[in-house]
Amino acid sequence: RASVGPKYLSGLNPEQREAVETLDGPVLVLAGAGTGKTRVLTTRIAHILSQGRARPAEILSVTFTNKAAREMKHRLGQMLGHAVEGMPWLGTFHSIGGRILRAHAELAQLKSNFTVLDTDDQVRLLKQLLQADNIDDKRWPARMLAGLIDGWKNRGLTPSQVPSGEGAVFANGKGGKLYASYQERLKILNAADFGDLLLEDIRIFREHPDILRQYQQRFKFILVDEYQDTNVAQYLWLRLLSQAPSSPSFTSPRARGEVASQSDASEGESPRTELVESLPHLDSLPAGGAREQTPHVKNICCVGDDDQSIYGWRGAEVDNILRFEHDFPGAKVIRLERNYRSTGHILAAASHLIAHNEGRLGKTLRTEDHDGEKVTVTGSWDSEEEARGIGEEIEQIQRKGEKLNEVAILVRASYQMREFEDRFVTLGLPYRVIGGPRFYERAEIRDALAYLRVINSPADDLAFERIVNTPKRGLGDATVQMLHDHARKRRIPLFEAARAVIETDELKPKARGSLRDVVANFDRWRAQREVTAHTDLAQIVLDESGYTEMWQKDRSADAAGRLENLKELVRSMEEFENLQGFLEHISLVMDRDSGADEDAVSLMTLHSAKGLEFDNVFLPGWEEGLFPSQRTLDEQGRAGLEEERRLGHVGITRARRRAMIYFATNRRIHGTWSTTIPSRFLDELPAANVEITESKGGSAWGGTGGYGASRFDDMEAFGSTYSTPGWQRAQANRNRGGGGRTGGGGGGFEEQASSFSSSSSSGPDFGS
Ligand code: ATP
Ligand code: MG
Repeated sequence: RASVGPKYLSGLNPEQREAVETLDGPVLVLAGAGTGKTRVLTTRIAHILSQGRARPAEILSVTFTNKAAREMKHRLGQMLGHAVEGMPWLGTFHSIGGRILRAHAELAQLKSNFTVLDTDDQVRLLKQLLQADNIDDKRWPARMLAGLIDGWKNRGLTPSQVPSGEGAVFANGKGGKLYASYQERLKILNAADFGDLLLEDIRIFREHPDILRQYQQRFKFILVDEYQDTNVAQYLWLRLLSQAPSSPSFTSPRARGEVASQSDASEGESPRTELVESLPHLDSLPAGGAREQTPHVKNICCVGDDDQSIYGWRGAEVDNILRFEHDFPGAKVIRLERNYRSTGHILAAASHLIAHNEGRLGKTLRTEDHDGEKVTVTGSWDSEEEARGIGEEIEQIQRKGEKLNEVAILVRASYQMREFEDRFVTLGLPYRVIGGPRFYERAEIRDALAYLRVINSPADDLAFERIVNTPKRGLGDATVQMLHDHARKRRIPLFEAARAVIETDELKPKARGSLRDVVANFDRWRAQREVTAHTDLAQIVLDESGYTEMWQKDRSADAAGRLENLKELVRSMEEFENLQGFLEHISLVMDRDSGADEDAVSLMTLHSAKGLEFDNVFLPGWEEGLFPSQRTLDEQGRAGLEEERRLGHVGITRARRRAMIYFATNRRIHGTWSTTIPSRFLDELPAANVEITESKGGSAWGGTGGYGASRFDDMEAFGSTYSTPGWQRAQANRNRGGGGRTGGGGGGFEEQASSFSSSSSSGPDFGS
């Protein structure tokens, strides 16, 4: 078939081309991983621009990360053969929502230079509110309230809309009221949190139809990637913007005047001109009131895959994609079936796995690529051997001359990263952590390290300042300032200044008592250092300082993940002879700068891997309790299991040429070794596409059978057609203990919390 038309269209298959060329009316591309959904969106923008259907500033396109937005812009330039000038509305929901809110800040009682609070600021503010209301922060932690408020905002609920039953779950019915006072406080501080960036837009759109109309007219085309993971607030926001603008005659002159002034201030162009300009482009103008009841939907194109919905725990509603045709009447639904990313074996393994889910639309995926290498499953004795094996495998890839940029390790829980990071530092392999701070850069790890640094070096002022009031012990800014004054005057470290100050009466008795405790604690820990193993000392310090307790009492979603990271920290110290050696290692790890263009291995959670692709993908930790995560199973039951399975599907489908799954038979959970059983997801892989391999980690793995009962024997991949390695035969001979888990009780250490904390503490992708 001769392909006519612009060059950028020529490589597309007929379905992709249809999705690109159907510019009018709603379009949904519902298709599996690697079928070119993102490519279709990019090409569609190129098409709109080159056909002159809209200017760059008239296209609203939503990506899942800022990185994806930059990537899209880059590709666009390549397709069109020239750089694209100004795509102000290409970005994440948050960045675009924030941009709109700034333009109309005064309608949300804000100034246009309002601050966007991150999670820590948010929690601090809530704590103040709880104090003011005499609510015990220990019983009702601010973080828990922050989680509730985020949840309500994700669902598009303003304080007055929160169902009373839900508000009641916090502080004996005060939840809803606290949400309201939190919103008031935000206004006074000229601040917004991430949820507000959309929620306030929605409120403004609803209360000021003239403003909504202005945007409806501006955005001639709307495009959304990863639609399966939109939450209710995002959906409402999109839905408002995607209606064809109603007739201008409905606008009162006063209201239109308002539009003029805001838009002049924000965009520097006259809305009146734009309003007139845009009229001929409108597909349909509602003729009158009756048509207003059923608003016309304009050119919106959403792409997504129900099998890749992995943010349900953060309020995403896969229903949004399933109901698209209903919500956008007349929608054209296009399915893409050819996968261009992965080889046959990889695609078959991923498809077979996801077929175990019940709640799905179901779809076929094919590749015209060759079968390639089978997906490998490798058992290791423990997580250390796993990291060693993967390290060696990566070095081999490097020796073959392949780029490290084409290697990714995708973990379920962020604490799994630590072992890999240490390994890479030892091997001198460059790596980058995507979508969150590196292990040793996490707030709780930095706090713990600060304690250890002060023990090691009393002159470490930065470390001392970091923890002197963490956990809170009544040593606020004023006290710290006084210590600084003392230290400067006498040229002594803060710690010694503290020792001196407690002998005076400069501090109020309570602060003085607290500071005295701090000094006494450190003196005691330093003495203990001589007689106690450094790992034990670390545990003692975390416990006696009240730091562990601070997180134990914290009922927020990410507290469990942080506690698990702390355990992992203590465990990582075992590999060093003493505290000094450990801290030196840390300074080396921290010192590595992660140059953006450096050729480096990517380390990230499965959640952050969405939309990405790599030649080589390592998938460690496929064990019951870790993956699927026990907490998800406990909290969400079957739905949780299906979401975990989708996560596995996302993981495997990131691979172009090689997908390598690992499980360890022993893993340290909550500081104690547990035998683990291989993930049930391994049972669900198709035998024909999977190969069992030996760990390269060299090892204690001897097939001694000293681990828990497993369904691994039943694994389809281990059909009789397979040559069975010795260790596996040994395992098959073990008595079967039924399907029960023998893992370490699992709960609390999974990624859900930590991935949330990492993405939200650095803030969702915002700005560019
Ligand atoms: P995911 O669901 O994982 O986000 P996707 O559906 O968005 O995947 P893309 O990332 O757009 O898929 O495409 C996957 C890979 O296939 C990319 O490398 C892309 O360039 C390539 N690709 C897509 N369509 C074609 C095509 N028609 N010809 C050649 N390569 C293609
Ligand atoms: Mg994509």
